[in-house]
Amino acid sequence: MTYNIGVIKGDGIGPEIVTEAVKVLDAVGAKFGHQFNYNEILMGGCSIDTTGEPLTDEAIEAAKASDAVLMGSIGGNTSTSPWYKLPADKRPEAGLLKLRKSLNLFANLRPAYLYEELKEACPLRDDIIGEGFDMMIMRELTGGLYFGERSTKEENGQLVARDSLTYSETEIRRIAKRGFDIAMKRRKKVTSVDKANVLDSSRLWRKIVEEVAADYPEVSYEHMLVDNCAMQLVKDPGQFDVILTENMFGDILSDEASMVTGSIGMLSSASLNDTKFGLYEPSGGSAPDIAGKGIANPIATILSAAMMLRYSFDLDAEADAIESAVKKVLKDGFRTIDIMPRDGSNVKQVGTVDMGTLIVERL
Ligand code: NAD
Repeated sequence: MTYNIGVIKGDGIGPEIVTEAVKVLDAVGAKFGHQFNYNEILMGGCSIDTTGEPLTDEAIEAAKASDAVLMGSIGGNTSTSPWYKLPADKRPEAGLLKLRKSLNLFANLRPAYLYEELKEACPLRDDIIGEGFDMMIMRELTGGLYFGERSTKEENGQLVARDSLTYSETEIRRIAKRGFDIAMKRRKKVTSVDKANVLDSSRLWRKIVEEVAADYPEVSYEHMLVDNCAMQLVKDPGQFDVILTENMFGDILSDEASMVTGSIGMLSSASLNDTKFGLYEPSGGSAPDIAGKGIANPIATILSAAMMLRYSFDLDAEADAIESAVKKVLKDGFRTIDIMPRDGSNVKQVGTVDMGTLIVERL
């Protein structure tokens, strides 16, 4: 099969880490008989420097014409880069917000997986880590409190601020379906997180999730209150497979879940709409402090490419091959600087390009 991938290298370490992900994709393509065509799309600071805009209409059209988009990261040093002297809607990050909106990306996926070899970076006790954990946080991205009506008004001589939390049946149903679809590709368990003991929006969330669950008899599901979920993530993370939740709860829980895994350089992510299209990118930023030094960890971007194969192209065996190669490279003792153990014993530090090559060799 032939797949057309939009590639946004972006700024800072973006070009370095994306180059390694493309190298891994090409090796997977050769092994499994697929052709990946790449179309480079400008976004962020590099687009400002070339076109004066963080994202042009042509770039949006190019992204829409792709089967999926693989991205590095955008932005520069927010204190020193001239990009941050521009008005807010002309800065690098405005490009990413515009792209997410134009592509209607309403579902954000962030896996939290604990590698045996990186256990040391996990702040939890060994008895809590147990056999490790492997969960997927699925966060609704375009509704809820962050997009509701807001106001700050003077009432009875003092300022009163309001933010409204709104969800429609349609918004809940489409993300719930996505969550159950993802669970079908994993261990077939969904934990839907809400605050149904207090919020009307959560009671509707629960009702619609139950309706959607009826269409997935193979998937077991449970409801959990968000305060309990925050506790369970540090008490017994191994219990979770897919955590399905609304925008603000997901914002907080996904950061909590990623913190218990260790390094930012290992964390992949995806943003999906209601077609097979997705935008795949590492969770970290453009790391201007280490850009151009050849030391950035490319693994989060390589794992994002694996997510693209799994969720946009349904190439599960190919995605498995990349994930196994990453596990092998860690098992064989290779580390980039961000995941070096404190004492540095029994492992070898490598740079960005070598890490990409070592993963390709293990495919
Ligand atoms: P950052 O994630 O870029 O860096 C935080 C720390 O993590 C730095 O010390 C960095 O060196 C390290 N780090 C990040 N990725 C790494 C990797 N792959 N390998 C090794 N170390 C890594 O966050 P920041 O410094 O707050 O932001 C820098 C720029 O990135 C800003 O302009 C910000 O707006 C932008 N940003 C972009 C995205 C995106 O493109 N989606 C996301 C977050 C931040």
